[in-house]
Amino acid sequence: MDIKIWGVGSGLCERKNTSAQINGIQIDAGPSVYQDILNHFPEHLLITHPHGDHIGGIWHVALFAGFKSPKPLHIYGSSLSIERIKHIIREQSDHEAYQVLQQKLHYHILPEKGSITINNTKIDFETRHHIAEIHTHIFKFNDKVVWATDIHETEEDFPFYQGTDLVFHVMYRGKAHTTPEMVARIMKRAHVPRVLGIHYCDKKDLTPYAKDFQEFRYAEEGESFHL
Ligand SMILES: [Zn+2]
Ligand SMILES: [Zn+2]
Repeated sequence: MDIKIWGVGSGLCERKNTSAQINGIQIDAGPSVYQDILNHFPEHLLITHPHGDHIGGIWHVALFAGFKSPKPLHIYGSSLSIERIKHIIREQSDHEAYQVLQQKLHYHILPEKGSITINNTKIDFETRHHIAEIHTHIFKFNDKVVWATDIHETEEDFPFYQGTDLVFHVMYRGKAHTTPEMVARIMKRAHVPRVLGIHYCDKKDLTPYAKDFQEFRYAEEGESFHL
């Protein structure tokens, strides 16, 4: 599995927006993403949830898809994510661009829980509560790697992570986001060896939790992983 981290920031600081590509499948399209993926054009885009730091760059990404590549762009997300993306694209496009995009963009509404296969990558997904009416999709790739951002979990959410090798998980303030302490409790219970924090601004001291894991640290912008 090939993983490339484009950004690890929350929407509230100068770090690039939390986003990655796993086996060529793009996750989220915040405002900072477009420049990074110019030479790594995705055919498939998973949307975790419809907040601006995750879909605010969609027009650039989609238009790029429409004009620069003959291939369609498949966009997957909750009905609310797809609704907001369609709205952005409709509102921001002039007539010609909109015609191109209508033909090139293929929308796939994801249920709350399920599984899809893209090329040879199996993706299991579930939703978690984030904030207000927003529920966020979390994704598990080939039973081994999880991408879980912008969610607020409890320890009871551990089963989804069992059997995985590497989890990228939001580690941020409480309320709308799971804190590092809670992430450690969940992942310890799920016996996950490697846990990397995403969607953060300031870094907290993670050494109190690190002893229970092979790796428990913050992910960095630009990191690559080959599993
Ligand atoms: Zn966010
Ligand atoms: Zn969010």
